[in-house]
Amino acid sequence: MNIDYQYERSIPAVPQEATGGPGQRGTAAPCNDGHEAVLNPESVRALALACGFSEAGLVALPYPNEDRDAARFESWVGAGRAGSMKYLERTTEDGRLVRTRPAVPFPWARSALVCMAIYNSAQPRSTDSAPEGAGWIARYAWSSRTERGERRPSDYHKVLLKRLRAVEARLHEELGAFESRAYVDTGPVVERSLAVAAGLGWTGKNACLIHPRLGSFGFLAVLLTSLPVEMTATPLLIPDRCGTCTRCIDACPTQALIAPYQMDATRCISYLTIEHKGPLASELLPGVGRQIFGCDICQDVCPWNRPHRAPVAVDADLAPRPELVNPALEWLAGLDLAEWEGLFNGSPVRRAGFAGFRRNLAVAMGNSGLRRFAPRLEQWADEADEGLRAAARWALEKLQAQEDAPDRP
Ligand code: SF4
Ligand code: SF4
Repeated sequence: MNIDYQYERSIPAVPQEATGGPGQRGTAAPCNDGHEAVLNPESVRALALACGFSEAGLVALPYPNEDRDAARFESWVGAGRAGSMKYLERTTEDGRLVRTRPAVPFPWARSALVCMAIYNSAQPRSTDSAPEGAGWIARYAWSSRTERGERRPSDYHKVLLKRLRAVEARLHEELGAFESRAYVDTGPVVERSLAVAAGLGWTGKNACLIHPRLGSFGFLAVLLTSLPVEMTATPLLIPDRCGTCTRCIDACPTQALIAPYQMDATRCISYLTIEHKGPLASELLPGVGRQIFGCDICQDVCPWNRPHRAPVAVDADLAPRPELVNPALEWLAGLDLAEWEGLFNGSPVRRAGFAGFRRNLAVAMGNSGLRRFAPRLEQWADEADEGLRAAARWALEKLQAQEDAPDRP
């Protein structure tokens, strides 16, 4: 899931010298005086911001709503909503879902620092009118940075992990030895639940974390530590501000938002175009539209991401690549494997795989209504890859059916 325009505000760039290093002051809580080291929420937040994050919050573990969140996660997994994402269903030897609570995999964890990095940008939204024959790649996958005068794809996992490691190193430097783990999407934790508990926002009806000032186009990174939180004060939770709005539910083209706050991943275009391998269920293909990697629709329609409200990120490591905004399907379909790997080397798009990406292109071509894509689809209709072949045949049939349909009066 995981846009655009001229926003009124922007997040200031963070000076590199602020990303930690010996001699910098103003980090965490006191220690090394014979007392147990503790983390101070305000100073740890300041450290995270100095290391390049847009926002951060610290929460003591277990957090107050952990039972509720664990029950919801168990019920979501139990209903089969995770699809083929089997890592979400991993259990311990005694049958507990690993991701239900941080204490399951990390019994030593006493606090979680949740950091957010905004990737919003002054570019069109997926829901805006687009050039004919253009696909859509999710905003989060546009990221790049300039190295030696050249713009190169950047993987947010690496960008955020480097920043989180800077926070971690600084805390170790000041507080001495303690257990810690730094994760960006790869850890056995539910980042969004921890972010809500850390006071970073609320879970919207589109199942995304929404920060009241920053919107929902943000990456999350989590640092678990064995250190307690000073004064054990719980963060101020941000109340749900969705109100009576249902824009995201109404806009979801595959009805993946089956009820407010409930998402069926197996119907979600983000899952289908990235995680799911092989043929896609044909009844969902019309709804996939022109999305070829991920989907931004339920975030693009959200009022909390409106230009006057959500700021554009000025993050040199997550700058959008203009060529990936509304990319021409023809251009991408013409890439061979080496060219595709070159274009997306270091990019999250690689996760879809070359065959999966071309499968998605075939679906978008079928949904485009443009007969000029037929020769490419005919070529793909005989491909060995089952997913691509099935998608190309479906797309050809769709284009043909459209051609055969009588003109409207
Ligand atoms: Fe959101 Fe629906 Fe798109 Fe999934 S398919 S990202 S739920 S709009
Ligand atoms: Fe909430 Fe409306 Fe945003 Fe959906 S579109 S997350 S209902 S505010």
